[in-house]
Amino acid sequence: MGDPQEHIVMFPFLAIGHMIPFLALAKKIQERTSYKITIVSTPFNVKYLSSTIAKDSTKQVEQNPNNISLVSLPYNSSDHGLPPNTENTEALPLKDMVTIFNSTLSLKDPLKKLILEIIEKDGKPPLCIISDTFMGFASEVAKSCGTSNVSFTTAGAYGTAAYVSIWLNLPHLLAIDGVFKMPGFDDSCCSFSVNQLHPFMKSANGSDPWSKVLKSLLSPSFDSLGFLCNSVEEIEPMGIKAIKNLTKLPVWCIGPLLPQCMLKKGEKDQIFEPSIGKDHGLSPEKCISWLDKHPKSSVIYISFGSQNTISTSQMMALALGLEESEIPFIWVIRPPIGFDIKSEFRSEWLPKGYQERMSKSQKGLIVKYWAPQLQILSHNSTGAFLTHCGWNSVLESLSQGVPVISWPLAAEQAFNSKMLMEEMGVCVELSKGVSSVVAKEDVKKVVDIVLGKSGKGKEMKEKANEIGMCIRGAVKEEGDYKGSSVKALDDFIVTLLCRRNVSS
Ligand code: UDP
Repeated sequence: MGDPQEHIVMFPFLAIGHMIPFLALAKKIQERTSYKITIVSTPFNVKYLSSTIAKDSTKQVEQNPNNISLVSLPYNSSDHGLPPNTENTEALPLKDMVTIFNSTLSLKDPLKKLILEIIEKDGKPPLCIISDTFMGFASEVAKSCGTSNVSFTTAGAYGTAAYVSIWLNLPHLLAIDGVFKMPGFDDSCCSFSVNQLHPFMKSANGSDPWSKVLKSLLSPSFDSLGFLCNSVEEIEPMGIKAIKNLTKLPVWCIGPLLPQCMLKKGEKDQIFEPSIGKDHGLSPEKCISWLDKHPKSSVIYISFGSQNTISTSQMMALALGLEESEIPFIWVIRPPIGFDIKSEFRSEWLPKGYQERMSKSQKGLIVKYWAPQLQILSHNSTGAFLTHCGWNSVLESLSQGVPVISWPLAAEQAFNSKMLMEEMGVCVELSKGVSSVVAKEDVKKVVDIVLGKSGKGKEMKEKANEIGMCIRGAVKEEGDYKGSSVKALDDFIVTLLCRRNVSS
């Protein structure tokens, strides 16, 4: 499509959960256009991305990504790529996150310098800069360099709309009886509750460090050409409408950005795994052979993503609740909040004799630090996913028709959980945040509901299956048929080319 010499620059936020969808999007664009793509990040992240690309191309999972270049921008202090917690210490304190968000602003001038160098080399501006919604300042860079900017949200539409809306409007400050409407969301739809907010959101008042930094990073994204969203049009109508209402911009849902093999249910080979963390976990083969021994839809998979962990008391309650429920589980476990992730896992963080009991009875597979999540979710024996509701985890679960038990911990995860419960009907919330008190009885209660073969459990499974079919259908391309996400990506590229033609 268009001149194969076109060049797109991509600029993800610094966390792994953002970089993986950016890399997947780069590959998708290349499959359809052969354009040159340059992904720009900090030296730490470029190192991570290059090892991922190298690993991927040796496995020949996706198209040979020769045309994807990686460029490091000079970055101050200790280079906060946000690695998954296998290399980092415990969940980053919130004040450090504010520092990291603030420090991304220092990438603005180096980004501009790079774009000017590209213009000199290519003899024309890149077709566009696709920047993370959190890197809004890229729209100013694009404008000053004569190119377009498109904002890419790696989160879902509902979560993005709610998150952006809350930081740009602080609507909870006007809550009556703890309930408020979120600007952008139709009046007729859901209300939000102050209880659904993370503590750092509740205390935001416009002059605190979070409000200031997020406003300065998010609001310039409204000055872009439109929003790319790692979601599927059919599954998030309310969220998509809310982004459009808020930004007055087009939204292209081009997700889910998962490996193709995940999207053809049943094919489990050649699955892409991020290289970080692999050495600390259990081999995919061991997890799969453990799952093979359990009946269909009987196992709960538990993981809190790449960055998060829970508190010691929560870990203890979760362990006891799982044991009492007698449901088989795979649990990706990390040292709790307050401990160095690199340290050896201590048995005292779990009930006495727990690991031995679980292993002997084959009831629980405890995986330290990192598990092959994609393979586990696509296995027939997996019946539910207890997740922090990071958007990649949500998409991975739903694409395989696996219902969710939610325990949101940070960012927009509480909004994702709310949508999964209220809009999709595929989720029950167990807890929220790292300070909540969780009783072992609560664990048993939700597990019994979600894995129930009748009533709510059955309904949730049916809905998750329907959504899974929509997600897989969105990326299908057979003969003349194009799924909604395939069409949206083509439409996005045509829009860029039209804009190029108009301005040249
Ligand atoms: N992941 C994994 N194994 C683990 C933990 C996480 O493969 O033990 C992957 C997971 O499949 C997902 C990503 O890491 O693709 C986590 O992204 P998500 O958006 O769910 O959460 P985040 O880590 O950004 O909070």
